[in-house]
Amino acid sequence: MRFHILTLFPEMVEQGLNTSIIGRAVNKGLLSIHAVNIRDYTVDRHKKVDDYPYGGGAGMVMQAQPVYDAWESIVEEIGYTPRTVYLTPQGPTFTQTMAKNYAKEKDLILLCGHYEGIDERVLEEIVTDYVSIGDYVLTGGELPAMVMVDAISRMVPGVLTNEDSGSTESFEGNLLEYPQYSRPEEWNGKKVPPILLSGDHKKVDEWRREQAILRTKERRPDLLKKAELTEKERARIEELA
Ligand code: SAM
Repeated sequence: MRFHILTLFPEMVEQGLNTSIIGRAVNKGLLSIHAVNIRDYTVDRHKKVDDYPYGGGAGMVMQAQPVYDAWESIVEEIGYTPRTVYLTPQGPTFTQTMAKNYAKEKDLILLCGHYEGIDERVLEEIVTDYVSIGDYVLTGGELPAMVMVDAISRMVPGVLTNEDSGSTESFEGNLLEYPQYSRPEEWNGKKVPPILLSGDHKKVDEWRREQAILRTKERRPDLLKKAELTEKERARIEELA
């Protein structure tokens, strides 16, 4: 999958995404992350990319021309118009389900705003999806774009190896993941739950499922409402409540 990130700070996204699992997937050729500097496309002789908002008010607004030309350069390079996401606090909140869906795309353009945002007219021309990473305001779209690239990349086949497999993780089936333990068997007076040392895989799976349900009930009751549980599991939750 190929990510094209339109930004005023390309070094920020390039540096932030070249390590660990994502960096390894880029080296293997499973992903490519291409940061395009919007400033390179301004026709202003002082390389300006922002100006005051019409109607007054605080801050600066990114101008339409450099954003459009930078976007068009990507479309011309790849030969078709892919989905273009504008990272904005005004979009629906990014979820694991959205990450899985975006992972099916061949190319994805992520547009990062800065200052007070971007001239609405260019957004109307190029943006297909508006996405927020949460109900708070950041200084720029670079961190949200990196969050999206990371979460989407993990869903691209081959990016996660068996060692870091995502199949049983939080949000699968609207449940949070069960608690995890590693060596030693006892740390700080706390023992690993004995069932995990039993070697009985069926019992371990049952225990993990129950823990996942209990954890979701405790920490994210809103999610549990959407989870598919058996009658027996629902009864057990009531029993433990
Ligand atoms: N004036 C804008 C508003 O009130 O909606 C906020 C602009 S914000 C200071 C600058 C840029 O950061 C935005 O254009 C957007 O790209 C990015 N940004 C800020 N918060 C974000 C969030 N929660 N999710 C995604 N992008 C965000």
